[in-house]
Amino acid sequence: MQNKSPQRDEIVSLITQEEDRQIKMIGLIPSENAVSPEVSEVLSSCLSNKYAEGYPGKRYYEGNQIIDKVENLARDRVKELFSVPYVNVQPYSGSPANLAIYFALMQPGDTLLGLKLANGGHLTHGHPKVTGSGTFYNSVQYGVLADARIDFDEVRELAHKHKPKVIVAGNTAYPFELDFKKFRAIADEVDAWLVADISHVTGLVIGGEHMSPVPFAHVVMSTTHKTFRGPRGAMIMVTDEGMARDPKLGKKIDAAIIPGLQGGPHNATTAGIAIAAAQAMRPEFTQYAKRVTANATALAEGMLARGVQLVGGGTETHLMVIDLTRLGAGLGTQVAYALDVAGIYANKNTVPNEPGSPFYPSGIRIGTPLVTTRGMNTAEMKQIAEWIARVIEHTTTEQLPKDLKARRAFLKDFKKRAKTDKVLRSIREEVEAMATTFPLFKW
Ligand SMILES: *Cc1c(COP(=O)(O)O)cnc(C)c1O
Repeated sequence: MQNKSPQRDEIVSLITQEEDRQIKMIGLIPSENAVSPEVSEVLSSCLSNKYAEGYPGKRYYEGNQIIDKVENLARDRVKELFSVPYVNVQPYSGSPANLAIYFALMQPGDTLLGLKLANGGHLTHGHPKVTGSGTFYNSVQYGVLADARIDFDEVRELAHKHKPKVIVAGNTAYPFELDFKKFRAIADEVDAWLVADISHVTGLVIGGEHMSPVPFAHVVMSTTHKTFRGPRGAMIMVTDEGMARDPKLGKKIDAAIIPGLQGGPHNATTAGIAIAAAQAMRPEFTQYAKRVTANATALAEGMLARGVQLVGGGTETHLMVIDLTRLGAGLGTQVAYALDVAGIYANKNTVPNEPGSPFYPSGIRIGTPLVTTRGMNTAEMKQIAEWIARVIEHTTTEQLPKDLKARRAFLKDFKKRAKTDKVLRSIREEVEAMATTFPLFKW
């Protein structure tokens, strides 16, 4: 990052520091990735100067001759990529995109059936009490079985009992492939709309590494910044199935975005989506998707071989959840912190039948999109697995106290000690030596 102003701005300096951190560390948060220089370039372009409320050919502001072309390109490329008849690329991000879909398909108080947050669902899938989706709608939630796979008997039972208007099939911390065909069969039994939220696995779907929801779901939503490797944003696709059920569905989704929930679209983001979509059509992208899953498998195998337990015993996708329950309840917080000190960042996560709590969970969620984008392969995954195993062994000898006050005091002290811990510091040196040999983005 260049600082062109004579006076070194504090923000520019912070961006340089963040760039340095991203290069030196190993990022294993499965929802994160790095964009190509081409996507990055258009994000800082003059396109963001322009207001373009409305849609191509039907704007509320003048001067959108070029912006219309940009948005049409983005829509056409996404349509081609997924073979869908209708696309909206304007959602500001995944969460408002899901709300827009619900807004288009339901009335307040109608029933929404989604996967529990604690079992790998997303907040916007009807998480009760604290979310919009869980308060504007009557939210009913399904979970997973002891083997961590979706309990389709429960999905069917709840669907028949509560007659949801919308069933959401999607996840953020579920290591297995989602069977959209089974979801659709249940949706048909109760005349519900099937919404597939593939935010996490879009890149895998494009690369043929994950079942496509397009033949089964009526509406498909995806963020654009995860495995898709585009800018922060989202896209909503209406499939042939959706258009067959309601030919006006595309227009309804458009209206739910604006005037329903949003104002002007972020045109620079739209341009970034157009570029990312074109890049996703390249054979190299398919290779990347294959490497993402191969790397996840290698990482899982490497950890399992060192006695690290995984939720469901492994992964079929880009992500896995380390299960620390055998070592003690609620150890996710301290292990995630220790990993960060050791140069590897991930996030704490609940495990099915969590014995800890959402804030002190017993799992760590990790994934391979970013390390794969950086050019790392299975050899590096084996090495990362070893580092993770060493950190876990080193930091789980101390149990998290049950008493809340003692717990806070323990974690405060644990963090203080971790920062200067010799073992963690030496792992960090090894991590940095390896990570700095890889760029942030590589084809
Ligand atoms: C990330 C994600 C979202 C929300 O996206 P934001 O851009 O963070 O609002 C929604 N659904 C799923 C399944 C996700 O993984």
